[in-house]
Amino acid sequence: MEHKKECLVCKKTLEEIPVTKFYYQDSYFYLCPQHIPVLIHSPQELVGLLPDVDKIRGV
Ligand SMILES: [Zn+2]
Repeated sequence: MEHKKECLVCKKTLEEIPVTKFYYQDSYFYLCPQHIPVLIHSPQELVGLLPDVDKIRGV
């Protein structure tokens, strides 16, 4: 997994938009405010972007 400071989903960088760091498994990733709700409500949309994300249940 890459560790550029950019949103995992839309690839906007911290130069363009605030991003939040999430720690996950032995790694971490970044999400912009626009895509944090995807992780909360629709984590299945992150399949292919995050390992084992299909095991996370949206709320
Ligand atoms: Zn984003």
